[in-house]
Amino acid sequence: MWSRPLLYERLSWPEVRRAAGEERVCLIPVATLEDHGPHLPIDTDVRITWEICRRTAGAAPDEIVLLPIVPHGYSPHHMDFPGPITIGWDTFTRYCRDVGSSLARHGFRRMLFLNGHGSNQPFVDAAARLVCVDHPEVLAGSAFYLSGRRALERIEEIRDSDAGGMAHACELETSIYLAIDPEAVDMEKAVDERGFPAGEYSYMEWSDGPMRVMPWWSSFSVSGVQGDASKGTAEKGEAFLAAAVEECLGFVRDLLAKPLPERREPRETL
Ligand SMILES: [Zn+2]
Repeated sequence: MWSRPLLYERLSWPEVRRAAGEERVCLIPVATLEDHGPHLPIDTDVRITWEICRRTAGAAPDEIVLLPIVPHGYSPHHMDFPGPITIGWDTFTRYCRDVGSSLARHGFRRMLFLNGHGSNQPFVDAAARLVCVDHPEVLAGSAFYLSGRRALERIEEIRDSDAGGMAHACELETSIYLAIDPEAVDMEKAVDERGFPAGEYSYMEWSDGPMRVMPWWSSFSVSGVQGDASKGTAEKGEAFLAAAVEECLGFVRDLLAKPLPERREPRETL
């Protein structure tokens, strides 16, 4: 169904040099290991993000080089649950920046951090920006999957839950995991829980409200779930995946269409 993606770690050094010369976009998946309710494995974000990136890189094997996933992220507020591996925010930010800077050093000029764990996002954004600051000739972008306008419209078409049903280990993540590996999901243990104290400006959904408040997870969810896990199906998961791959390909092509930046001397007149 998909071609084989070009995997960064399988290249020899002359092939890395060639890949950089081909103006490919480096696709860097980023996720975390974290509790996802009693029904999903703790590698949910890792499996989902990897699958989106793998399929995207397979759909554009001449435009993308796929990096290994960054499996550990920022998750200290989940540590009441067994499972999460959390990395300090500054260590994690610098780690991601160092991945990007290494790629820049090897001649890659466009890269995308595709993130699949919500709490990573501000730090992945910062890492991408720091790569751009450190390497003025590089375009480094960052994005969360299924976050663009068209993707959010697709989510509304696919979902069965109402507002609040998609936040964490929810209808969306459960569906995608069912599509990837149904035997790893125990739907008999799937529960629906919505404990987050939602307000007009701060609420938890696939796309959160404008005001971000993140207390300890156990203060509003005892199961680890936030949303409707019981509504997950593999069929919806395939539809979400297809939308995520289309969007990720869009991110990549947006980066490819942009001219590489060139710093200029400020002047008073145009
Ligand atoms: Zn997740």
